This record gives sequence, C-alpha cells and structure tokens, in this order.
Amino acid sequence: MANETSVIGRFAPSPTGPLHFGSLVAALGSYLDAHAQQGKWLLRIENLDPPREAPNATTSILACLEAHGLLWHEQVQYQSQHSDRYEHALATLSAAGHTYVCDCSRLAMQQASRPDCVSDCRLSKKAHGAIRLRTHTATVHYNDRLRGDISETLAATCGDFVLKRRDNFYAYQLAVVIDDAFSSVTDVVRGSDLLDNTARQCYLYDVLALPRPRYLHLPLATAENGQKLSKQNHAPAIQLNKASENLWDALCFLRHQPPASLQAAPVRELLEWAVAHWSPQLLPTQP
Ligand SMILES: [Zn+2]
Repeated sequence: MANETSVIGRFAPSPTGPLHFGSLVAALGSYLDAHAQQGKWLLRIENLDPPREAPNATTSILACLEAHGLLWHEQVQYQSQHSDRYEHALATLSAAGHTYVCDCSRLAMQQASRPDCVSDCRLSKKAHGAIRLRTHTATVHYNDRLRGDISETLAATCGDFVLKRRDNFYAYQLAVVIDDAFSSVTDVVRGSDLLDNTARQCYLYDVLALPRPRYLHLPLATAENGQKLSKQNHAPAIQLNKASENLWDALCFLRHQPPASLQAAPVRELLEWAVAHWSPQLLPTQP
C-alpha cells in the first residue's frame, strides 16, 4: 500500500504531437522505476503553451500509453488548470524578495551577451515584463542516480531565470517544480535532454524550502544521423499496433534485454518482466 513515504514517479509530456520512440523510452523508464519500488506513477500533461499544442495530441498520448500497458495512477493532471498554485508560489517568492520584474528585450540581452537582465530592473520596480528569480552567485549541487554528483553555478549558465514570461505564460521551470511538489513526486526520471534544467529546478526547490526529488536522467534516443528524436524534427510517431515490439525495442535501448521467450509476448508480460528486472545501473550514459 502506498503511504506518505512511498515512491512517486511521473511522466510529463507536452502535447505538441504524438509520442515518438524517445518519449516512449522516458515513459517506460519512469514507469519501471516507480513500479520496481512499489510506488505510484502519475501522468501530467504539460500544456502550458497553447500555441504550441497540436490538436488531439493529448488524446493520442493517452491512447499510446494505454496501448503499451503504461497505465497511470490517479487522474491525469493538466498544467493549464494549475494557474492558482503557480500564482501562489510567485506571490510567496515576491513577498520574500526573491523575484523582480524585468523588461529587458531579448535583443538587448543578445547585444550584451548576457542570458538575463541587462538593465536596472533588479533595483527598480518595473510595471510590466518577465518575472525573474534572483540567483545571486549560487552554485547548485545535486546528484543524478546515473551520472553522480553534478554542480552548476547559475550565474555562469542562465543567470536570473524567468518564472513567468512577459506574455504571461508560466515558465517550464516554475510549473514543473510546483507540480512535482504538489504531487509529492519523489523520483524524477526523464530524458537527459532535460538534464540542464535540473540545477535551476533544484535552486527553486531550495528557495521555496521544498524537498527536492531524486533525479535519474535516461540516455537519449537519437535518429540514425545522431540528431535528437523530437517532435520538432519530425521523429516518427509510435505505431500502436506494434506495442509489444516497441516495448521490446525500448527495453533493449535501456539495456534491459528480455529473454527470447518473451519475444512477441503481450505488453503486460513484458512489463512484468521489466519491473522485476529494473536495474538503473545497467543504463548507458550514452546511447
Ligand atoms: Zn531587466
């Protein structure tokens, strides 16, 4: 039985298109990691950016997960319904002096070769602009279960990063931290394309005095030309009528080769084998 101290994992796709092999790998890895620890596995649709959403993408993602036996616990969550919690966090951060409004243009930042504020916004109260988090000279230390200890000095990488954009969309960094904290997620397992967001998210957990989750960044599936598989570069959608084959391929990619007797086995049997044999130390750090 799940209790407060149980493992909680999640899969959090953006509805910008159907799932491709890379996203199936991320879903499978996080599912196996949660189930292998008798935990729950949640599903959250990261629909923060309506203009980038593809019609029917959410329906297609849910159907794809179901076809692969990757069934989630609890109700599907949608970031578009979480504005109240994001505003509450922003108000808390603002009251404590952790944020400021910045109206510097992208062009001004490019010209100054800086990733963040290039004017006097930190000191003056601007009426309109993006809300940035003060990062000072923080060096963030965190652990990735596969890659070990990692450090990042935010001033050298991203500076005072944006929590709410000037067009009023909430930034990914804010939404993901607040939602994972609300759901008491203990284990974030996701593709290594998101590794370079982790320091910013850890910093935000610390500033908000929220407990950080553990992190495991999975190797990234690439196309034959070495390019990252992504919706942006038109990675092929997963075919639902090949669910068993797809799971087999995803397991092999994660260096969890099932026994030959399970070739073409129903997805439920493949998943049972994989949960019983899940071992993150087998994962390659490179594909
Ligand atoms: Zn500024």
